[in-house]
Amino acid sequence: QAKAQGKNQYIFFDDSLKHALDRRLLLENELRTAVEDDELVVYYQSKMNILTHECVGYEALVRWNHPSLGLISPGEFIPIAEETGEIKAVGAYVLNAAIKQNKKWQDEGFGYFPVSVNVSAEQFNQFDFVDQVKKMLKRHQLTPKYLELEITESIMQDVETVLPVIQAFKAMGIQLSLDDFGTGYSSLYILKELPVDTIKIDQSFVRTINDPRSESIVKTIIDIGTNLGMQVIAEGIETFEHLEHLKAKGCIFGQGYYYSRPVPVEKVKKCMS
Ligand code: C2E
Ligand code: MG
Ligand code: MG
Ligand code: MG
Repeated sequence: QAKAQGKNQYIFFDDSLKHALDRRLLLENELRTAVEDDELVVYYQSKMNILTHECVGYEALVRWNHPSLGLISPGEFIPIAEETGEIKAVGAYVLNAAIKQNKKWQDEGFGYFPVSVNVSAEQFNQFDFVDQVKKMLKRHQLTPKYLELEITESIMQDVETVLPVIQAFKAMGIQLSLDDFGTGYSSLYILKELPVDTIKIDQSFVRTINDPRSESIVKTIIDIGTNLGMQVIAEGIETFEHLEHLKAKGCIFGQGYYYSRPVPVEKVKKCMS
């Protein structure tokens, strides 16, 4: 916490830092029982075809509804879960919930579309991860092509170990996308080595698309992805201007507040695809 805040300002070891440390310790402790106490909630954000404005899928994004602190964002508690190992339970919960919900939507005549779930490195690298996913799909009778796993470059520290796992998922028919693309350090190498279906342009490039450098980077990512036969999705579309810029560069898919914030399941509107 202090490190994150410390970038642009001085931090004194005062009440506010103590408060931050107390909160961190509290979250760390209480996260252990969050899953069994049913405190996690999965929100969904639509993924859009930005040319036709049709919804093409959903991303599952977890929140922690803490009994006294209220809704806590994944940006705050996922890194803690990753450090403590609790991410395995949290991740399994979200995967199961998203698979179950997607099957339910299909049964309700809601439409057939993929739901994507974010997967942390610590979760992905479990020896039985493929097996876990297989069992969940079977339990809920969901066709694998309606599940998409979002991974980041941080998973790929060791391509040789990760490649067979990714190939196993591909063989099952599960889709894979590379999240936050462009923020890691070995993006192009990963694109060359790993058979991912989709690249997600990190929102930091979209937000600053007015800057000629960001603009060039966005254009280049779209071109590389397209040339490799991948789907390219722009993250963090907030304005009509962002949208127009992206369209002009040949981007077809996107998500962002311009269309919809992530919403709880009862607020998800019918996906027309
Ligand atoms: P992400 O996977 O890159 O998800 C996109 C984040 O950007 C989400 O934040 C989403 O709410 C937010 N976002 C979407 N559109 C816009 C926009 O137009 N403007 C802005 N400013 N933000 C937008 P959220 O839900 O707080 O999640 C943050 C991160 O936490 C996610 O980034 C993902 O890395 C992680 N996360 C969320 N759920 C899970 C999960 O179930 N498992 C794991 N391992 N990580 C998760
Ligand atoms: Mg994601
Ligand atoms: Mg992202
Ligand atoms: Mg991410």
